Amino acid sequence: MGSLASLYQDLILDHNRTPRNYRSMEDANRKAEGHNPLCGDKLTLWLRMEGDVIEDAAFQGSGCAISRASASLMTVAVKGKSRSQAEDLVERFRRLVTGALEPGEVPELGKLAAFAGVAEFPLRVKCASLSWHALRAALDQPEAIVSTE
Ligand code: ZN
Repeated sequence: MGSLASLYQDLILDHNRTPRNYRSMEDANRKAEGHNPLCGDKLTLWLRMEGDVIEDAAFQGSGCAISRASASLMTVAVKGKSRSQAEDLVERFRRLVTGALEPGEVPELGKLAAFAGVAEFPLRVKCASLSWHALRAALDQPEAIVSTE
């Protein structure tokens, strides 16, 4: 087991306190709702896609520090990305938080690497993954509701 200190890094605490892109989006053309019943995390994710590019991403919701910080960092990470780049990030983040990423690949994730410690806390994996499930759902269809169960 890792220590809690390794889980709650400064970057995660900062994004929990001051989540980026925390707002609803009037001109969104993609929306997904996510729910993690194990922890009680809920969020709504909005995207504005122009062609194949995510021009804007925003979220609102209630949940634990990990779920909020993950959603905040996710919206920052995917803005300006193409659909395939975003899908690649979803997959890499999934592998990061399940401990399946090769150590050499971790630095490529930049700030998202702060979530590497989640792999040692199985109950927190769903918290960290919730916004990413919502992202994949929003990319797949205009309106989607996902649950981590
Ligand atoms: Zn949670």
